[in-house]
Amino acid sequence: MNRLIRAVIDTRALRSNLAAVRARAPGAQVMAVVKANAYGHGLVPTALALADADAFAVARLEEGLALRASGVTKAIVLLEGVFSSEQLMEAARHGFDIVVHDPMQIDLLEAFSGQHRFVVWLKIDTGMNRLGFRPADFPIALARVRALIPAPLEIRVLTHLARADDRDEAGNREQIARFNAAVGTLDCATSIANSAGVLSGAGIHADWVRPGLALYGVSPFADQTARDLGLQPVMALESRVLTVRHVPKGETVGYGGVWRAPKDSSIAIVAAGYGDGLPRNLPSDTPVLIGGKRAPVAGRVSMDMIAVDVSGLPPVRVGDPVTLWGEGLPVEEIARHAGTIPYELLCGVSQRVPLELR
Ligand SMILES: *Cc1c(COP(=O)(O)O)cnc(C)c1O
Repeated sequence: MNRLIRAVIDTRALRSNLAAVRARAPGAQVMAVVKANAYGHGLVPTALALADADAFAVARLEEGLALRASGVTKAIVLLEGVFSSEQLMEAARHGFDIVVHDPMQIDLLEAFSGQHRFVVWLKIDTGMNRLGFRPADFPIALARVRALIPAPLEIRVLTHLARADDRDEAGNREQIARFNAAVGTLDCATSIANSAGVLSGAGIHADWVRPGLALYGVSPFADQTARDLGLQPVMALESRVLTVRHVPKGETVGYGGVWRAPKDSSIAIVAAGYGDGLPRNLPSDTPVLIGGKRAPVAGRVSMDMIAVDVSGLPPVRVGDPVTLWGEGLPVEEIARHAGTIPYELLCGVSQRVPLELR
């Protein structure tokens, strides 16, 4: 038993999910979103596994630099753009495509003294009210970007949907209508859809799609599983049983004594805790898999351990493998127990958890 907790990354599933996204967005180019350490899956190994993507999208300059340092030559889009002239120089040096969502970023481009011709993604805020130019301000932003010297290599436009995942078709339709009205007859490449937009079946493909979650084999919808959508889970969070103990009826387990044995019980202590990224608020009765069978968490999540009531299982032994989420136990289900979304669980897997590529 050398390794305890680890995140096993199925690179074949990553590629299969990319193919599934392409099949849902025929003709569109795919910008694989790998921000936040590729949603916890490992930035560089994920990008290398997704080498067939048409571009990669990151949130931070540092993420783009890490990709270039590992030999990624494809287009890299900085989804939040740059915030200083130094960052703009770096972006030029490494050939990053930049999202421009604020007038300050156009100021930086106007003051840029280099020769690099950027691919500029102008962002239009069509209702999310997070990043982007409001439609009324877009023409001025566009005119300023068009007047840049040196001229941009290409100007593209994007927007982001606030409610693609709850299939709020009215909301989506309204945002798309605002986007189309703002873009008008402008002849440039466009991008609208995240994973939910791609998979919603509403045909919101534009020229580029920007899937994140779907590539990791997770459903963005409450009413459809990843399997329903033809996606395969990529990450399995696995650990092992540290010890098994007998807990007499009436005794409590763990901090606060919040779980009390309803009968003489068999409790497995598993090497996984909030220090690894399991939410501390995971309630008792959240399932884990031991030997492929479900057993409920018993009591509070500790920093390095959880207790699991294995009274209902065949005998469990020290070292037995445990799945916190993965095949047979979707991360979507654990997220529901934790009162959060799979994005947060995946991004929250802590850096101390080693990634094991398969
Ligand atoms: C994170 C992000 C995405 C990917 O979203 P998913 O829901 O994971 O597919 C797409 N576009 C933008 C602008 C993002 O920030």
